[in-house]
Amino acid sequence: MSWQEKLRNVEPYQAGEQPKIKNLIKLNTNENPYHPGEKVISAISDFDAAILSLYPNPDADDLKHSLAQYHGLKDEQVFLGNGSDEVLALIFLTCFNGQAPVLFPDISYSFYPVYCELYDLNYEMIPLNEHFEIIKEDYYKENSGIIFPNPNAPTGLLVSLDFIEDILKHNQNSIVVVDEAYIDFGGESAVTLLEKYPHLLITQTFSKFRSLAGIRLGVALGNQEIIAKLYDVKNSFNSYPIDSLAQVIGKASIDDSFYIKDNARKIIETREYTKRELKNLGFEMPDSYANFIFIKHPQKDAEEIFKKLRENGILVRYFKKPRIDQYLRVTIGTQEQMEIFIENIKKIID
Ligand code: PMP
Repeated sequence: MSWQEKLRNVEPYQAGEQPKIKNLIKLNTNENPYHPGEKVISAISDFDAAILSLYPNPDADDLKHSLAQYHGLKDEQVFLGNGSDEVLALIFLTCFNGQAPVLFPDISYSFYPVYCELYDLNYEMIPLNEHFEIIKEDYYKENSGIIFPNPNAPTGLLVSLDFIEDILKHNQNSIVVVDEAYIDFGGESAVTLLEKYPHLLITQTFSKFRSLAGIRLGVALGNQEIIAKLYDVKNSFNSYPIDSLAQVIGKASIDDSFYIKDNARKIIETREYTKRELKNLGFEMPDSYANFIFIKHPQKDAEEIFKKLRENGILVRYFKKPRIDQYLRVTIGTQEQMEIFIENIKKIID
């Protein structure tokens, strides 16, 4: 066998473009259009760079404690990783071992099948119904684990806590993961269900609601037995889970929560404005509860709109995938950015 044949082949996840050119209106990767809060900014300017010659605090106690308090949980119920992508990767590796397939929706976060391929896990992608809804009864069958985002991505549709409870009740022997990357834009977190359901695991991120995509901080919240196992696996790759600067910034961001919630409120208002304007122009869309919308024009080609917007300096996300290749996912920017977006869309579809 040659060394080339010994290399692992994986079909990588295709992340949205991070353009080198500035001044684009960037509505393609669901980042928050507002800058991080004052506490984060001062934590960075007060940061003592001398400590960077030392390894970070392996327990990240301050950050973990603040987060636990914020959610009304114990410190032992909080797992931290480098972005929720890493947290999710470690969950797939730690929690989904079994012969039966891991179940997740078909039309969902496209990293899930990538993790399954990477770890040789059986999986089944369960189609959403014609309205892009998850049908809970489809998940009442033998499985090695269940995961879905709430709200779902890229549709933005939300399920209720009752819906999640039904899935938990029918799957007592599997870990059910609810990926709450976008929960703070109008949804209700399943954190309140943790006490009752020890097999529920929730992931969240600092990238969206907390405007901190650049520091890579993600979280899992769950029962301490699962969290401890996740740390065992993570520490087997790298015994210093979160770097020192991210620990300080993350903690300051929890202290900035008032400012951050106000930004989320503005994003929701702008989302509702954008939906209304687009509906008046004939666009169709599921009812998004996230910081993005998923839109389709019955007569106009989505890829064409995507290209024309790009030429005009506006980046949105186009997925060349069956069933959704006539849709665009548009991140909600500031009110000003969305007004420019609407003006452009009007000209393009005219
Ligand atoms: N889950 C979902 C559903 C997402 O859309 C994203 C962002 N691409 C993530 C998790 C990962 O976010 P991050 O790694 O920035 O925490």
